[in-house]
Amino acid sequence: MTKLEPLISISRYYGTNPDYVIAGGGNTSVKDGDILYIKASGISLSTIDRDGFVALSRELLRRIEEKHYPEDPVLREEAVKQDLHRAIIDPSHLRPSVETSLHNLIDYAYVVHTHPTMINAVMCANDAEKEVAELFGTEVLYMGYTDPGYTLFKAFQSRVREYKKAHQASPRIIFLQNHGIFVGAGSVDEIKQIYSSVESAIRARKNLTIPASKPVTYQSPAASFIAGYYASRDLVSQAFRSPLSDHFLADSDSFRKISRPFTPDIIVYCKSRYLFLEKGTTNKAIERKLLEFKESNGYYPKVILEEQGGMILVEENDKSLQTVLEVFTDMMKISYLSEQFGGPHSMTDGQISFIDNWEVENYRRSIARS
Ligand SMILES: [Zn+2]
Repeated sequence: MTKLEPLISISRYYGTNPDYVIAGGGNTSVKDGDILYIKASGISLSTIDRDGFVALSRELLRRIEEKHYPEDPVLREEAVKQDLHRAIIDPSHLRPSVETSLHNLIDYAYVVHTHPTMINAVMCANDAEKEVAELFGTEVLYMGYTDPGYTLFKAFQSRVREYKKAHQASPRIIFLQNHGIFVGAGSVDEIKQIYSSVESAIRARKNLTIPASKPVTYQSPAASFIAGYYASRDLVSQAFRSPLSDHFLADSDSFRKISRPFTPDIIVYCKSRYLFLEKGTTNKAIERKLLEFKESNGYYPKVILEEQGGMILVEENDKSLQTVLEVFTDMMKISYLSEQFGGPHSMTDGQISFIDNWEVENYRRSIARS
């Protein structure tokens, strides 16, 4: 499998760079004749080897592109998932990435999809579409936000078809608002060149420096109270701060710029709501706010932000707490940098609740299965 070696190398190249890939985000693929090899769901790009890829029949994937599915979203997603599973050649125990069908629509051998901080600074900004048009013209494809799953797949399919009609070739660069980027090319070297040219274009003429983001541990009466509160619920809590978090925790107006998620991935790791504690909130009031939060959202907050204090994070274990810290720090960077492109543009309530319900659905299904 000579085409898999370069794919493994580029997957690790971007997978080990937190400016491109955080946690389980991003996916890569290569086409070899009628076979599409794609990163399996739940496998990390940073350490992937040949066992982390699933081989699928491109012919069976093309049938999904043409088939009509039920209108009901739950039935439809289930039917598409089954067809995707049927397209697997080997090995059947791995689940292909949910973005597999998108990779198959791009006619280049290699496709690398990531959610890079610098690119999302534009994708999650108010002027995203305008900036893309000014920086890249009509050579690239820009897609406004679309709910993930089948809806995104169909929108992607029709936009790629339109592009191919106009340009007689697949787009090499596809920007997705409030999500990330797809890059396709004949070789992995070309993929790297495209990524770096996109970044240089974004950096040109802009001041894209940010306050230091490396977090240090932090202590406060509120953080200790919250740690105790959660410890009795079998959850771990730790608090951090950085010059970057200080910027957003200065007051409630600054907090507003990070109060809503920018991308579906942020919701997956940090949820969609974060609790802001005004300076001087008493322990009793904190306890009440935690309960109120749980009543109205159905879960305890994973991210609690203290005005002029730290980020108090809550998770099931230390490893997932670190992931929340990385993802939320990336979210602050995106918000800060987006000021250069018209200011932060969060997901809307409708878009957020779609992801929340989707998550719940997935969770219910996984429970039903076990
Ligand atoms: Zn993605």
